[in-house]
Amino acid sequence: MLWVVGLCLSCLPQTGHAQTERVVKILVENAAIRSGPTTEHDRVTVLPSGLKLPVVRKEGGWYRIRLGDSQEAYVSADIVELLPEGSAPSQAKVTDVSVRPFEKGTRIVISLTAPVPFRIVQRLRPAALILELFNCRLSQYGVRQLEGADAVLAIEQVQKTTNTAELTFHLPQRQQTGYTAGFPSDDTMAIDIRRPYQSAGLQDKLIGIDPGHGGAWTGAIGPTGLREKQANLDIALRLKQLLETGGARVLMTRETDAGFGSPGAGQASDLDPRRELTKQAACDLFVSVHNNDTGEGTSRSVGGTETYYWTPMSILPAKVIHANLGAALGTQCRFISWRPFYVLRETDCPRVLVECCYLSNPDEEAALKSVDFRHRAALGVFCGIREFFDKAMTTDGLETAGEQEPGSVGVQENGDGQRP
Ligand SMILES: [Zn+2]
Repeated sequence: MLWVVGLCLSCLPQTGHAQTERVVKILVENAAIRSGPTTEHDRVTVLPSGLKLPVVRKEGGWYRIRLGDSQEAYVSADIVELLPEGSAPSQAKVTDVSVRPFEKGTRIVISLTAPVPFRIVQRLRPAALILELFNCRLSQYGVRQLEGADAVLAIEQVQKTTNTAELTFHLPQRQQTGYTAGFPSDDTMAIDIRRPYQSAGLQDKLIGIDPGHGGAWTGAIGPTGLREKQANLDIALRLKQLLETGGARVLMTRETDAGFGSPGAGQASDLDPRRELTKQAACDLFVSVHNNDTGEGTSRSVGGTETYYWTPMSILPAKVIHANLGAALGTQCRFISWRPFYVLRETDCPRVLVECCYLSNPDEEAALKSVDFRHRAALGVFCGIREFFDKAMTTDGLETAGEQEPGSVGVQENGDGQRP
């Protein structure tokens, strides 16, 4: 079933010749489009259901698909349907763009003739969101900027290639606070960009706290049987109390041992509700609390604190929380790491996951059994969150020029892989 083999990119048919190609339709929401034909490959973008993508060829259980004129990527055959010959891929023309205020910032409304594949890249310096619309052409139009749309400074638009339009949203040079994007109807794309935090400190901030695991999901189990789900919950409840005393509002993903989903239903059944709950609430910051495990058969001597983030805007809270947590616990600060953990991939707000210590390390398991240690863990994360909101008023998220940009991936051991 190979229809296009050995063609150089410039020879690939344009959308006007779509009848020579086959097309697949996405069947699920948040479909991962990857750089290669395995789940280990990076996500190029995530797309909603219903979009129709032109196929270059099938490779095992994956379709190699085309985005715009010159980019190719992969989608799992399990989440798409091969449409009959003659079906046309999604393609559109942008007919209007407007920028208007909404409660939490600025809403970009893009009118187009149909939903098309897209990708958004977040940049910290200069601060911007860059939107690529694939299989899409710009038409002659202006950008209507309504009064009060203050979270976006300016918009640039360019027809990057024949079938790829690029819109750049220039943002204030401040710590970014998140965005969401989607197609509320077949002829409208909406991107909500939140304005920078309006004040330092914890007052009026909504913080999502996620004690990892719970219920049937025990998480790591220490050498003498301490369960990670219990330690995570105890630390998170202490953190909740500290934050509320400090003036913040807190949304807990769980406050008892009850978990989400079941191991038989797969990891997503545990993680999706946590992600959705905090996303719907429009949190200002999300922190997932875990303790680590080196995995069976590996050294029990590994110990220390690790902190994970994914979106560029999450690097500053990761750094600050990590430093405060390590200092509070007196543990080895192993690293912060850029990692596509399930609960970190959303772009609605900065998201961080802490691994306070290694439950698989007998000394650290013993420490984690003490109330004092768990309280210090909560205090460390609390101090980090408070410092982050203070720093966020005066930085763009990269504290000094040349500091670590997203992409410097850390290392190996982690019991909370959370890959899909
Ligand atoms: Zn965990």
